[in-house]
Amino acid sequence: MFRRTAKEMRVVILAPVGRDAQLLAATLAAVKIESDTAANGELLLTKLGEGAGAAIIGEEALKVEYVTLLAEWLTSQPPWSDMPLVILTSSGRPTPQSQRRAHELQTLGNVTFIERPARPETVQTALLAALRARQRQYEMRSRQEELLRVNADLEEFAHSASHDLREPIRSISVYAEIIQKHYGNVLDHKGTEYLGFVRSAAARMETLLEDLLCYAQAAGIPDEFPEPIFAREALDAALENLAGSIQDCGANIEVGDMPHVRIRLAHLQQVFQNLIGNAIKYRNEAQPRVRVEARKEDSWWVFCIEDNGIGISKEYEETIFGIFKRLHTNQAYSGTGMGLAICKRVIERYRGRIWVESQPGHGSSFFFTLPS
Ligand code: ADP
Repeated sequence: MFRRTAKEMRVVILAPVGRDAQLLAATLAAVKIESDTAANGELLLTKLGEGAGAAIIGEEALKVEYVTLLAEWLTSQPPWSDMPLVILTSSGRPTPQSQRRAHELQTLGNVTFIERPARPETVQTALLAALRARQRQYEMRSRQEELLRVNADLEEFAHSASHDLREPIRSISVYAEIIQKHYGNVLDHKGTEYLGFVRSAAARMETLLEDLLCYAQAAGIPDEFPEPIFAREALDAALENLAGSIQDCGANIEVGDMPHVRIRLAHLQQVFQNLIGNAIKYRNEAQPRVRVEARKEDSWWVFCIEDNGIGISKEYEETIFGIFKRLHTNQAYSGTGMGLAICKRVIERYRGRIWVESQPGHGSSFFFTLPS
């Protein structure tokens, strides 16, 4: 469990004029708040970087360049962090200059202004509230870290389980084949039937494990935007792998103009292959027609794979993207229920989205977005 250090709950004071810093430290100490003094804006940033619960800053100490640096530092903080800043504004009538600075400071985020001369209780109340808010942020961080740890453990488990289980399953398949070959003639009807069950169960298990491994591997895709690739290349590679099934069912595949997108080619190929493979697999009596196209929306490309197949009821439009989620038996349509889960994982690793719009009996349109 994460333990908060004293540094993480201290208040850094930047008030270089006269005895301001000393007085503020004493005011905070009276309510048991630890503090540390920074002599200038650069030191303030160093101390905040080392860990702090909040900062209290005399407005006059924040030169324009420090405001910019502080803003940069705040934006570079992790998502859970929103450092509370308490600014002691100058007393008297606000000049246009001080108003402009106040506006700049406001853009920094979690800022509270206290007008001077400030009563000690006002400063204490503001800082206690700021530290309470910071405490909640640390709790959020702990939860996020815990979640990441649990996720990493699960990934690791899925990866080694799918990897290590492949060998014994492979052996079952191989020995079942050997039995069939060498002892098939001494088996009676029941024996042959049962051996057939063993072989098809082993084959199914192999496919499941392959898909599970593929899913676990998708989690390892680095969180980065690679150089753009031509989506048409990934699509052609996917179509080549699907050539057999396209030909078998006489599917008609139409392709619109394809863009360049920031994703690894093998990953986009996999997404196309799963989606187009499904578009053909979940067909009805009509000749399968699949249309693949892309349109630009802001800095994203939206891809669409549209089919004229069996469609999906509204209530399942979300569930089908879960792992091992299927709407049919293996007898009706073969599959592992992993294809869409893999697509979702891959697309989300590139910060995109994937969803389906469909009407039962009237086909489906699968959409996904990728950065341009
Ligand atoms: P699998 O095809 O192996 O079952 P998927 O994850 O690819 O696994 O798909 C999950 C489920 O979503 C499928 O079992 C099917 O019910 C439904 N589905 C996927 N694509 C389509 C489609 N193009 N048309 C109709 N249903 C689909």
